[in-house]
Amino acid sequence: MKYSELPSADAEVFEILQGEGRREMEGLELIPSENYVSPAVLEALGTLMTNKYSEGTPGRRYYGGQTYTDRIESLAIERAKALFGADHANVQPLSGAAANLCAYAAWMEPGDTALAMDLSHGGHLTHGAPVTFAAKAFNFVRYKMKDVETGEIDYDALEATALEHRPKMVIAGFSSYPRTLDYRRIAQIAAKVGAVAMADMAHIAGLIAGGVLENPLEQGFQIITTTTHKTLRGPRGAMILSNGKVGNPLRAPEKIIENLPTLIDRAVFPGLQGGPHMNKVMAIAVALGEAARPEFREYGRQILKNAKTLAGALMERGCKLITNGTDNHLMVVETITSFGLTGQEVQLRLEAAGITLNKNVIPDDPLPPFKASGVRLGTPSATTRGMKEAEMIRIAGWIVAICKDNADPAPIGQEVRQLCLQFPSPSGLVESA
Ligand SMILES: *Cc1c(COP(=O)(O)O)cnc(C)c1O
Repeated sequence: MKYSELPSADAEVFEILQGEGRREMEGLELIPSENYVSPAVLEALGTLMTNKYSEGTPGRRYYGGQTYTDRIESLAIERAKALFGADHANVQPLSGAAANLCAYAAWMEPGDTALAMDLSHGGHLTHGAPVTFAAKAFNFVRYKMKDVETGEIDYDALEATALEHRPKMVIAGFSSYPRTLDYRRIAQIAAKVGAVAMADMAHIAGLIAGGVLENPLEQGFQIITTTTHKTLRGPRGAMILSNGKVGNPLRAPEKIIENLPTLIDRAVFPGLQGGPHMNKVMAIAVALGEAARPEFREYGRQILKNAKTLAGALMERGCKLITNGTDNHLMVVETITSFGLTGQEVQLRLEAAGITLNKNVIPDDPLPPFKASGVRLGTPSATTRGMKEAEMIRIAGWIVAICKDNADPAPIGQEVRQLCLQFPSPSGLVESA
C-alpha cells in the first residue's frame, strides 16, 4: 500500500508500520490463527466509517445519521447469513473472546453450567479456562480426547458429563485440535439435555465458508461464533451466527429458541459492548464478499493439502505429531519427543531463521504454558501467499534441520527470505506515495 499522509504527519509511526510490513513480507508465518488480508480489506478498514457511532442494529439505532452504517451492516449481515446458511448474524463483536462472552451471556445466567473441550486437548482459553472472567461467571465442565494417538473425542464421556451436569450450553470448537469433530453427535447430546449447541469456529470459519469442512449449523447446532481474521481472512473482528428454526428435533425447545436472535443482539449491545466499529464491519463485508468467490474454495482446498503435506513431511523426518497428523489447517508437534527441546526453545530457534510459529501445550502437558512441550503450526498464511506442496516439503526440511540436526539458522534464514519474496504477501509492503 502507498501512504501519502502518514509518512510526513508522523514519521515515527510510519517507520514502525514499514518495519512490520517488511517482517510480514520477508518472514514465513506458520501461526495457524494468522493470515494476510487483501488490499481491498485493508482499504475498507482504513476508512472514515470509523467516525460514526451506531449503537443498535440496522434500522433500530440510538443516534441519527445512520443511512450508510445501516447499509453496510445489513450488507455484512446478509453476506454472513448466505455464506454460512444462518437465520441471523451479529457482526458487531469486537473479537473472538468478546463474541464468546456475548454468546454465553445471551443464553446463560451467572452460575449456569457449560460443557466445553479441555484447553490442553485443543480447546480455547475463552471456553472457561480458570484464568478467564467467564470461568468466574459460569461453571465449566470438560470433555477430552479418548485417544491422543487418533484424536478421537471421548463422546461417551462427553454424554455422561452432560447427563450428570445438565449444561445449558455444549461448546464445540478449538484452537489446537488437528482433527474434525462429530458435530451431529454433539448436537444430539446437547438436545438430549436441553442445551444449546454452540460451535466456536474461530480457526476454521474460512474452511467452512470454502466448503472443505463441515458446517455445524447443518448438523443441528444453534450458534456459531467465529473470528473474522483467521482462515476467513478478514479484519480482526468476530460474528455470532445462529439458526433457531423451529421444528428440527435436534434443536432446543422451540419457544425459547425463537428468541435467540434477540437474545444475542441484546447480549452484544447493551449487554457487553458499546458502539460497533463500523470501519471493521465494512472490512468484514468485503472479506465475506471475497469468501463467496470460487477462488476461496480453491484456497480452502489448498490449505488442507498443504497441511497434510507439511504434517506428512515432518513425520517422515521423525517428528511426533499430536494425533499423528491433521484433518484441518493446523498441527501440533511434540517437541520434547521429536527434538528434546521445549516448545519455547523451538519457537526461539525458528524465529532466528525467520520462521514464526507458537509454543503450545500438549494434552495434559507437564510443562507450564510459557515453556510447553509442543509447538503449533499451520498453513493458512503460506497458502494465501500461493505456496503449495513443494514449498511445504522444503519448510519441513528447514524445521527439522534447525531443531533436530542443530543446523545454523542464519543461512537457512536466507533461504526462507528468498522463498517468501517469491510468494509476496497480498497485504503488500508499506511505501510512501
Ligand atoms: C482465536 C480464538 C478466539 C479468540 O479470538 P480473539 O479475536 O483473539 O479474541 C476464540 N476462540 C477460538 C477457538 C479461537 O481460536
